[in-house]
Amino acid sequence: MSAVPPDWLTKGLPHIWLPYTQMLTSPPPLPVVATQGSRIKLADGRELVDGVASWWTACHGYNHPHIAGAVTRQLRDMPHVMFGGLAHAPALTLARRLVELLPKPLDRVFFCDSGSVAVEVAMKMAVQFWLNQGAGGRTKFLSFKGGYHGDTFATMAVCDPEEGMHSLFSNVLTKQVIADLPVDEASEWAFDAALDAHAGALAAILVEPLAQGAGGMIFHDPAVLRKLRRAADRHGILLIFDEVFTGFGRTGTMFACEAAGVVPDIIALSKALTGGTMGLAATVATSTVFEAFSSTDPMRALMHGPTFMANPLACAAANASLDLFASEPRLRQVAAIAAALARDLEPCRDFAGVRDVRVQGAIGVVELDQINDMNELKRRFVESGVWVRPFRNIVYLTPAFTIAEAELKRLTDAVVAVLGAWS
Ligand code: PLP
Repeated sequence: MSAVPPDWLTKGLPHIWLPYTQMLTSPPPLPVVATQGSRIKLADGRELVDGVASWWTACHGYNHPHIAGAVTRQLRDMPHVMFGGLAHAPALTLARRLVELLPKPLDRVFFCDSGSVAVEVAMKMAVQFWLNQGAGGRTKFLSFKGGYHGDTFATMAVCDPEEGMHSLFSNVLTKQVIADLPVDEASEWAFDAALDAHAGALAAILVEPLAQGAGGMIFHDPAVLRKLRRAADRHGILLIFDEVFTGFGRTGTMFACEAAGVVPDIIALSKALTGGTMGLAATVATSTVFEAFSSTDPMRALMHGPTFMANPLACAAANASLDLFASEPRLRQVAAIAAALARDLEPCRDFAGVRDVRVQGAIGVVELDQINDMNELKRRFVESGVWVRPFRNIVYLTPAFTIAEAELKRLTDAVVAVLGAWS
């Protein structure tokens, strides 16, 4: 075990700009040399049990041989080819398979490379859906406090720009309608009022179904989604589900919309789409949305086209990931993780400074009363041999669905021990 940081870290660090990181004061990132299953191996020989699954992507654990094999074969045949005017089997097969998995009538898939862009494409589809029908005034979105949809300018505007990490930019963001999720009588009233006031200008309602992720790990009931569907239908506007976080099993069903029996008009998917191996995203629309773009007028085509869209390597990874969902008991594993998280995080409820403990599928959350020194908390987790990355006042676990029982217990034990000593 060597305590000396590797050369590539010391020489590269002065030239790298890290995400959401105050470069002057934050501790340096941990040098990783390998990942396997639910383990992250550091340059000094230590192994951390991963409680984050690389921002919720690595649902089958790292380096699953089935995905690695599919990508290796694809690399030999065709690592990339442009998707304008050319088609290839990995992408078209993936589109067909996604449509088979999603509720009907979601049946047109547009590929891009990140969750933010998948949501931007969904927003663009919604605005152009109306434009193509001569309703150019429908350009706004109603989205929700506590939501997170990405870091680009359009997606920052539908987060809560008055609060949280995007508040710096609130002056430059296009103003949208940000409401409380209608979870009780007071918020239902506020939601109905906001919708009634703006309905004529709205292109769509946009929500993360069942679980708002990076905005605060806030869960809500499936009944909320049914209310949103009814509200969208009443006003004749579109409903967009951002399932970048919840898609592919995280909340207990393959897609969160299934739990509510609600079909959105557009759904955005990314993160676990490739089993966490590569950047890929998909925006899937219903036939009704798609029909509004069918015309002899070329200007009515969807005006979007990322250079690396439908990259064959990423599509091969995604197809292999879907194979694993079909051949291995992922949703049963999620249910078992949910039960273990609920049982083993429960002691945190008694600690001073803990506001709430909650679980939804393979997401376990301990919410603290106040924002803490998260760098110190992270350090203590690493000292305990686990990789847990709290944000603001939220400590959470979102492990791979394949995590071994003993590894999951190490994670929950570490959360209980670290927060117990903290309180
Ligand atoms: N939407 C949701 C619900 C997310 O959780 C995220 C990322 O955390 C995004 C969109 C943005 O995805 P990306 O970071 O891939 O751009």
